[in-house]
Amino acid sequence: MNCPSCGGDGDLTVVGRWGEPAQLTCPCGHSWTPHLPLLSPQALLREIVRQALEAGELTYQEACTDPDSGAATPRQDAVRAPLTMASRSLNRRMWVFDDYERAVAYDLLTRLRPDDTETEAASSADRLRTLHRRLDALGEYAAMVNGPLGELLNSCSAALRPARGLTADDLEPGPIPENPPVLLDAELAIGALITVLRAGSTGEVDY
Ligand SMILES: [Zn+2]
Repeated sequence: MNCPSCGGDGDLTVVGRWGEPAQLTCPCGHSWTPHLPLLSPQALLREIVRQALEAGELTYQEACTDPDSGAATPRQDAVRAPLTMASRSLNRRMWVFDDYERAVAYDLLTRLRPDDTETEAASSADRLRTLHRRLDALGEYAAMVNGPLGELLNSCSAALRPARGLTADDLEPGPIPENPPVLLDAELAIGALITVLRAGSTGEVDY
């Protein structure tokens, strides 16, 4: 893309609100809204963010305007009820994992391991792949396991199902002010399930 005034094509700055036409500024200070043949001005910012995320020049957290704002975390909220109920039962020793549940939990914990893609440096595409892998494992076990553990896994799997449908498009910053870091939200929800599975399978339930 070249500046229509001076022809410069380097160090361009893009500014815009999500879903609205973006404006480019060249180092000389010329500003313009590009009209590209195959891309609407409203889609330009999205496309630039997408390419930066894919190239690893930008992490998803940076793409969020304010990831720590305590914005809505729908998946964490969705798993809260079944997990709270399960931890309560475990804490009160009303539910003690039997050998079968312990074996299942150990296996599932291995499958739910985040692996090294869940780091700051990992691209959001890698993190998304890992998330899908973990949710598939959860769904598999939920369909396979009976009893209270099966119920817990089913509730969590159902609560996390929308996260299975996340695509690269959802990883970009949403319209302000709702801007939930969807990937992080789902990762933390799985993390909460892991805490309960670990407590149940080790018997260390006084947390
Ligand atoms: Zn210029």
